[in-house]
Amino acid sequence: MRPSIIVKNAAPPAPPPGPPFSWDAIARELSGLPGGALNIAHEAVDRHAAGPRADHVALTWPDRAGGGKSLTYAELKRQTNRFANVLTTLGIVRGDRLFVLCGRSPELYIGVLGALKAGVIVCPLFSAFGPDPVRMRLELGRGNVVLTTASLYRRKLQKSAASLPDLRHVLLAAEPDGETGVPGTLDLDALMAQASDEFAVVPTGPDDPSFLHFTSGTTGTPKGALHVHGAALMHYATGRFALDLHPDDIFWCTADPGWVTGTSYGIVTPLLHGVTSIVDDADFDAERWYRILQEQGVSVWYTAPTAIRMLMKAGPELARKYRFPRLRFIASVGEPLNPEAVWWGQDNLGLPIHDNWWQTETGGIMIANTIGMDIKPGSMGKPLPGVEACIVSRVEGGGVRIVDTPDTDGELALRAGWPSMFRAYLNQDERYRKCFAGDLYLSGDLARRDADGYFWFIGRADDVIKSAGHLVGPFEVESALMEHPAVAEAGVIGKPDPVLGEMIKAFVALKKDYAPTEALRLELLGHARKRLGAAIAPKEIAFAESLPRTRSGKIMRRLLKARELGLPEGDTSTLEAM
Ligand code: ATP
Ligand code: MG
Repeated sequence: MRPSIIVKNAAPPAPPPGPPFSWDAIARELSGLPGGALNIAHEAVDRHAAGPRADHVALTWPDRAGGGKSLTYAELKRQTNRFANVLTTLGIVRGDRLFVLCGRSPELYIGVLGALKAGVIVCPLFSAFGPDPVRMRLELGRGNVVLTTASLYRRKLQKSAASLPDLRHVLLAAEPDGETGVPGTLDLDALMAQASDEFAVVPTGPDDPSFLHFTSGTTGTPKGALHVHGAALMHYATGRFALDLHPDDIFWCTADPGWVTGTSYGIVTPLLHGVTSIVDDADFDAERWYRILQEQGVSVWYTAPTAIRMLMKAGPELARKYRFPRLRFIASVGEPLNPEAVWWGQDNLGLPIHDNWWQTETGGIMIANTIGMDIKPGSMGKPLPGVEACIVSRVEGGGVRIVDTPDTDGELALRAGWPSMFRAYLNQDERYRKCFAGDLYLSGDLARRDADGYFWFIGRADDVIKSAGHLVGPFEVESALMEHPAVAEAGVIGKPDPVLGEMIKAFVALKKDYAPTEALRLELLGHARKRLGAAIAPKEIAFAESLPRTRSGKIMRRLLKARELGLPEGDTSTLEAM
C-alpha cells in the first residue's frame, strides 16, 4: 500500500506580495475600464497588448512538423478588434448571442474574445456535436450568429438554420482546401479584411453576461448556465492560487473550449496572466501528448482524469521515452482523480497530479490541491482563497443544516457570492432557485471534509448507491479496482436488488496486455473484497472495451445503468462517439 499523504519537500511558495487576499485586492490587479466597467477580453488581451507583454506569445498552435502558428498579445488585440467590428457591422449588439461551432482554430479564440469585447454573449459548442444537439442549444440560447466552418455548417446546421428565428448570420472561417461561397453564409476572412483593427471595448459591468455554458449532461439533459464578466476576478485568482501561473510559464489546458474548462482555463485564465498557452486541436493520442509536453516545454499542465487514465493505459514505457524538464505543476479536473492516478504522475512524470473540483455552475475552480500543499491522494484539496465550502445535510421540510463534525458525509455547499457564480439556468428559473438554501449554493455532489480541512468526493447525489443499508460512492469502489494492475478504468453502478436494495456492479476496462478472462474477473472480485470489505465490494464485474463517456471525458454511469436495466438512455447529446 502507498502512503496516504505525499509530503511536499519543497518549501511552500512565499505568499504573493501585497495585502492579504480580498476580491477588491484582486480587482486592483486587473485594469478595469472607466466607470467601474469590467470586460473579460479587455483584461485578457488589451491590458497586455498595451504593456511590456505586447510581443509575448499569447497562443500557439504547434504542428507535427515542429512549426505551427502563434499569436502575440498585440496581434490578438488587432484580430479580436477586427472580429468585434465584423459583428458590429452586421448589426450584432451588446447582449446578442454568438455561438461558436469550430475546431480549436485561431478563429475560435479570436471569435470568442472579439465577441466579448463587443459585449456579445458567447456560447461555445463542441464541434463534434451532431445536428440535433446543435439545433437544440441554438434554439434554447436564441443564438443570433454562429461562427463555424463550411464543412461543419453543411453537416450540422444547414438543415435547421432556416427554422431558427433568432439566427441572423452564419460566419464561415476558412479551412484548408475548404469550400467558399456557401449560400446563406458569410465569409469571415473577407469581412475581417475589410474591418478596422481598432475597437473601443464595450464597457460591460461585472454583472453583465459573458458566457453561456451548457453542462456536460452527465446526469441528464444539459442545462444552460449563464455567466458574467465579473468572473474574470475568479479566473485570475485561481490562475494564481490553483494553477500557480507565473509570467514565464508555458501553459497547456487540454480541455475542449466546448465545455467550461476549455474556455475558463483554455482561453481566459492563461491570457489574464499574460502567459503563453498551447492549443492542440487534435484528438487524444498518448504519444503526441508526451511530445507536446516535451517539445513545447510545457511548465503548467491542466488536464482531466480520463486523459491520465488513458496515458496510464498506454503503459509506462511510452512515458519514459520522453523528458519533461520544464514541467513543474500538473492539475486535473472533471471527475474524481483516483489515488492511483496521483501516484502514476509521481512515478512517471516526476510530479504528483493535483486534483481540483468545480462545476460549470461555479465558473471557476473552488477546491484544489495547491502547489504548496501536502497531497492526500484521492482528496480534491481545500477551498481556495475567497471560497467558503462546507458540508450540509438536508433538513426535512426544506432547508439545510451545516455539518461541522469532520468525516461526516453530506452535500457539498458553497457560500454564494464568489465572482464567477452562474446567474441563471436558461429558461429554468425554478431549477436555479432550488440550487440555493439561503446564501448557500448546493452543488448536488456528496463529499466529506476531514479534520485537516481536506475535502473528499463521494459521488454525485444521483450516482450514490444504497446497498444493504450502506451509502456507497462509486468513486471509492472504482479507485479500489484501479489499484489492480490490470484495470485501466472502472465505472460502478447500483442495480436494483430485492435483498440489498441496490447491488453494486462494476464495469471494467483493462489495460493493454490484459485479457478479459474468467480467472481475472474472479481475481478482481477477490481484490475488491479484500480492499473494501464484503458490504461495499462489487458483487458483479463485467468487462468492457471502454466506458461510455461525455465528450468532456466523464464516465456516464447513468448510461451504464440504463443499458444494464434495459431502460431508455435519455439525453445522449454529449455522449462521446465510441
Ligand atoms: P450535468 O450537470 O449536466 O449532469 P456535469 O455535472 O458532469 O453534467 P460539469 O459541470 O461539467 O457537468 O461537471 C461538474 C461535475 O463534475 C461536478 O459536479 C462533479 O460531480 C464532477 N467533478 C468535477 N471535478 C471533480 C473532481 N475533482 N472530483 C470529483 N468530481 C468532480
Ligand atoms: Mg452538474
